Amino acid sequence: MGLNALEIYKLLPKTNCKDCGFPTCLAFAMQLAMGKVELSKCPHVSEEAKQKLAASSAPPIKTIVMGKDENKITLGGETVLFRHEKTFYNPTAIGVLVSEDMDSTKIEENLKKIKELKYERVGEILKPEVVAVEDKGKGKFLELVKKAYETGKALVLMSENIENLKKSAELTKDTRPLLYAATEGNLEDMGKLAKELGLPLAVKAESIEKLIPLVEKLTSMGVNDLVLEVEEKSIKEIFSSLVSIRRAAILKRYQALGYPVMVFPGKLTTDPLKEALYASIMIAKYGSMVILSQLNGETLFPLLVERFNIFTDPQRPLATPEGIYEVGKPNEESPVLVTVNFSLTYFIVSGEIENSRVPAWLLVQDSEGLSVLTAWAADKFNAETIAELVKKTKIEERIKHRKLIIPGYVASIVGELEEELPDWEIILGPREATHIPSFLKLWKP
Ligand code: SF4
Repeated sequence: MGLNALEIYKLLPKTNCKDCGFPTCLAFAMQLAMGKVELSKCPHVSEEAKQKLAASSAPPIKTIVMGKDENKITLGGETVLFRHEKTFYNPTAIGVLVSEDMDSTKIEENLKKIKELKYERVGEILKPEVVAVEDKGKGKFLELVKKAYETGKALVLMSENIENLKKSAELTKDTRPLLYAATEGNLEDMGKLAKELGLPLAVKAESIEKLIPLVEKLTSMGVNDLVLEVEEKSIKEIFSSLVSIRRAAILKRYQALGYPVMVFPGKLTTDPLKEALYASIMIAKYGSMVILSQLNGETLFPLLVERFNIFTDPQRPLATPEGIYEVGKPNEESPVLVTVNFSLTYFIVSGEIENSRVPAWLLVQDSEGLSVLTAWAADKFNAETIAELVKKTKIEERIKHRKLIIPGYVASIVGELEEELPDWEIILGPREATHIPSFLKLWKP
C-alpha cells in the first residue's frame, strides 16, 4: 500500500510556498495520496523523500508498454475509478485472435482485417492495435507469429510450450510482445523466461483469490511487468472481477492487483454479436486489453467509438486547428462559411456542406474547443474574433465575392460584424447544420 496523506506530508518541505499550485503542502499531499497529482509538481522535495514517495506517486495501476513505432500501446496507468474524476489515460487496446485451431481462411481474414479496418472520426484515426497468436500444438505457431509480426501490430504470444514461446519472443522481441500466460502450473518457468527476455508477462487464474498469490510470487522473482486475466465463466463474474480489481488498485492501492487486465470475450460465447456486447461492457469497465475472436466492421466500429468517447479527456474539448478548410473543390465563386473549432461542430458542419454538393470555403475559428452558442456566450466567438479570422486567413485572395455566411445562432452579431467588415455582406446561415444543404442550394455569389 502507498503512503497516506499525512505520511506524505511529513516528507514534504512544509514551507507552503504554493509553487506546486496548491495552497499548502498538506493540500498537495492529499492530492498525491489520491494519485491525482504527480510528485514532480513540487520542485523542492529532497532526493531522499523522492525515493520514499516514489511508491505513492506512481500510478496505482502499473503501465505496460507493448508494440513499436506508431503501433506502440500503453496499458494501465489509470489513477481514477470514474472518468469525470479526472480522465482515463490509456485506451483499452483492442485486438484479434489468430489461433492454430482456426481454419486458414479465418486466420487470413483476421490478419487482413486488423491491417485494413480503420475509421476517421472527428479527425482521429480509430483502429484495433493487437494480434494475439495462439499455439495449439499443431506445429504452425511460429509461422503464424511471423505473419502476425508482418502486420506491425503489438503482439500477444500465447503458448504453453516454453520453447515455442521463447522462439516466438526472440523473433518478435523488437515489438515488446506480451508473453501469455503464467499459471499455477508453469509459474516458475514463465517468470524466468519473462525475466530473461525482459518482456511483459500475462498471469491468469480462475479467480482473483487464486490470482493474487501468483502475482506475489512473480513480483518476488523480480517480474514486475504483468498483465492480469481472471478466467471466469460468465460475463457477470468477469465484470464483477474487473470492477473489484480496479477498486482494489485505486481505492486501496493494493499492489498485487495494480496491473492492467486483459479479457477475451470470445471465451464466453461463439455468437459474434454477444461477443461484441461483452467487449463493450469490458471496455466500459475496466479491461485494459480486449482480444476478439474476429473483427467485423459493424461491431468493431461501435466498440472503437465507445472507447474513443470514454478515453477522451472530459476537461479538454476536442478541437480542430483554426484555418481555412476546403469542402469539395471550391473556387472564387464558392460560398464562405464560418464556424467554431469544437471538433464535433466542425465535422457536422463540413459533413453537411459536403451533403449539399456545393463546394465551399469553411473558416474555422479557434473557440478553445467550445461549440457555437457556448463560445458566443463566453465571448470567444464574436464580431471581433470573426473579423480577425477573415483578415488573418486572407480568404479575400481566394474569392471574388464578399459574402460571409455565419451560424444562425449568432444572429445578434450581424450588425457589429458589418461594422467590423464594411466591405462584406454578412449572411445569416441556418441555426441547425442539418439545414445547410437546402440553404446552400440557393447560393448565388
Ligand atoms: Fe509544499 Fe512543495 Fe507545494 Fe511548496 S511546492 S507548497 S513545498 S508541496
